[in-house]
Amino acid sequence: MSPSGPPTIVWLRKDLRLADNPALVDAAFSGAPVIPLYIHDEEGPPRAMGAASRWWLDKSLRALGAGFRELGAALVLRRGGAMEVIGDVVKATGARRVVWNRLYDRKSIARDDAVAAALKKGGVESESFNASLLNEPDAVLTGSGGPYRVFTPYWKAAAPLAAHAEPLRAPGRLAPPASRVASEDIDEWALHPTKPDWSSGFQAWTPGEDGARRRLAQFLGDAAERYAKGRDMMGEQGVSQLSPHLHFGEIGPRQVWASAREAADQGASHRDIETYLKELGWREFNYSLLFNYPEITHRPFNPAFAGFQWRDDPESFKAWTRGLTGYPVVDAAMRQLWSTGWMHNRARMIAASFLIKDLMIDWREGEAWFWDTLVDADMANNVANWQWVAGSGADAAPFFRIFNPMLQGAKFDPEGAYVRRWVPELANLSDTDIHQPWKADAAALRTAGVELGVTYPQPIVDHFAARDNALAAYARLS
Ligand code: FAD
Repeated sequence: MSPSGPPTIVWLRKDLRLADNPALVDAAFSGAPVIPLYIHDEEGPPRAMGAASRWWLDKSLRALGAGFRELGAALVLRRGGAMEVIGDVVKATGARRVVWNRLYDRKSIARDDAVAAALKKGGVESESFNASLLNEPDAVLTGSGGPYRVFTPYWKAAAPLAAHAEPLRAPGRLAPPASRVASEDIDEWALHPTKPDWSSGFQAWTPGEDGARRRLAQFLGDAAERYAKGRDMMGEQGVSQLSPHLHFGEIGPRQVWASAREAADQGASHRDIETYLKELGWREFNYSLLFNYPEITHRPFNPAFAGFQWRDDPESFKAWTRGLTGYPVVDAAMRQLWSTGWMHNRARMIAASFLIKDLMIDWREGEAWFWDTLVDADMANNVANWQWVAGSGADAAPFFRIFNPMLQGAKFDPEGAYVRRWVPELANLSDTDIHQPWKADAAALRTAGVELGVTYPQPIVDHFAARDNALAAYARLS
């Protein structure tokens, strides 16, 4: 096909990158003119994007647009439902082929199937690819052909298959369509917050493919070496912080896998690299769960939890969202989230356990808050992890394993660096008192400038009494 023939539309979604993008490579290699298209549908699917994700999308699309310009193509931005927009662009350009990379939630799959069917009816070809997983859900099945429900055997089967996943190179040049395709101005999408602009703490992020690559290189050159231990230390730079880049597809897991393996070959600690890759395995496992059990977005995976008696407590929920529970490590976690759009994994587990078990508030309320505030808000990972903490998920932590925020703080933030950073009003307390200020003596509090109930809240619940209540509610289930 000559570059002057009918164009191919590359419908971009959670694959905002040029390298290792199979749909884009397919279009580029066909020799046809290429129209990269991003459609912003305010309603989703899978659901309306949260505020923090909108912030990220804004920057990511700008970076992607610049990347396409270097290849000689213009990224087309349009708003609306995918069916209508794709129909319009096909009609306006005479495109004969539309390609995209697959998504794995039920609503997106239904939408994509409907788009493919409508295109076929109009005589337009379509094809989809895998850009965002090492192994797609239907590629890793048990001996009896069903999906895995337990992580360890899943990963034992999936990891050897992942080893063969080779990333693709970015195309060198793209042929543009004969005439310019109408595109919207991203400023008009108002993805960046105004009135107020709460995003000043997000400046440390660099959304886009280059930012993703730099973050991975930085991690592999430094913290990867001590990841197995460092990944739990909330006050240290021990993790990769690649999650928003992976969520938006600015980097793909095949690229992460290949670079991590290369680092191991060049002398990085194999044990730590394996531990890191296993975390990518959890991501894959969660996608497999979402694909095979789509109802986990709103129903407990373990139906025994359907009758759990949650408490309706808007005041405590508000204290939790604002980082004002009186439990320093929980408050540090929630403030880190609000300020930066990201929270350390250990802190996510502690904060989620506190909401579910100490406050006995439905995990779905916490999941919705995270959805709105996380830059890496991801249907599969968010839902599966909330259910994991709640004890209702696949291969979940048992309900009776209730995180003690004081012990978690002492163990994973022993010098209080994490709390000092995010709860500065406690910064002058000792390493011990900082995780339980209500136990500090009056002189220590005075010296540190802390007045409980005034400069920092008293605990909103008694952890040990709350724990007993939660266990009693759990016992009533069986
Ligand atoms: P690293 O430790 O550097 O790990 C590398 C990558 O592995 C991550 O980027 C991520 O893609 C994957 N990964 C690591 N831990 C997990 C995990 N537990 N489950 C699935 N994948 C994992 N992650 C999201 O991407 N989006 C979410 O919406 C999300 N919500 C969560 C909600 C709760 C209650 C909990 C407990 C965890 C949630 N996670 C979510 C998982 C995890 O906390 C983040 O992926 C991780 O903290 C991201 O930081 P990182 O990139 O530095 O991770």
